[in-house]
Amino acid sequence: MLEIINVYKQYDSDAESGIDFVLRDINWQVARGESVAITGPSGSGKSTLLNLIGGLDLPTRGSVILDGQDITAMNEKELAYLRNTKIGYIFQLHHLLPQCTVLENVLIPTLITSDQNKAELKSRARTLLERVGLSHRLDHRPGQLSGGERGRAAVVRALINRPKLLLADEPTGALD
Ligand code: ADP
Ligand code: MG
Repeated sequence: MLEIINVYKQYDSDAESGIDFVLRDINWQVARGESVAITGPSGSGKSTLLNLIGGLDLPTRGSVILDGQDITAMNEKELAYLRNTKIGYIFQLHHLLPQCTVLENVLIPTLITSDQNKAELKSRARTLLERVGLSHRLDHRPGQLSGGERGRAAVVRALINRPKLLLADEPTGALD
């Protein structure tokens, strides 16, 4: 499902000031159906690695193969399509859109490519939101939610397109 080959990452700002690589020669494979936890101290590069896997940033060297495709060789348009259709990403800071309701936030990933009908998608969103205990918060905006409720909405948004790969950056930090 996922193969990481000789991946190195050095941020540009670090290169300028002579600071070392954040990631150095990472080699790693994850099989379909596997569930893996990356642990390490704050600042050790966990989010950096997730961003590379999620196609949000490029490694300085090395390859990230997702579902048979080298995502480091893709152009922006191909990457955007891959992110939308194959990857669910739960950001540590959630990044919900403040002007949209919980239900709208969850449905945003479906606006671009989904060929399912709107009523079915809405019903799936409601079912998932019910499963995380947010049925009574569908019309709230993120600013009206608790941190944990925002986190739960972000989990559902990451699941709505049935991604092959779910990436979760400290997803339970604000939950019970
Ligand atoms: P973790 O998620 O394990 O806490 P990060 O991957 O966020 O760690 O960060 C790893 C290191 O890279 C940290 O020292 C951080 O300061 C640095 N870093 C993260 N993002 C950037 C960036 N965009 N530019 C420069 N340095 C960064
Ligand atoms: Mg992090």
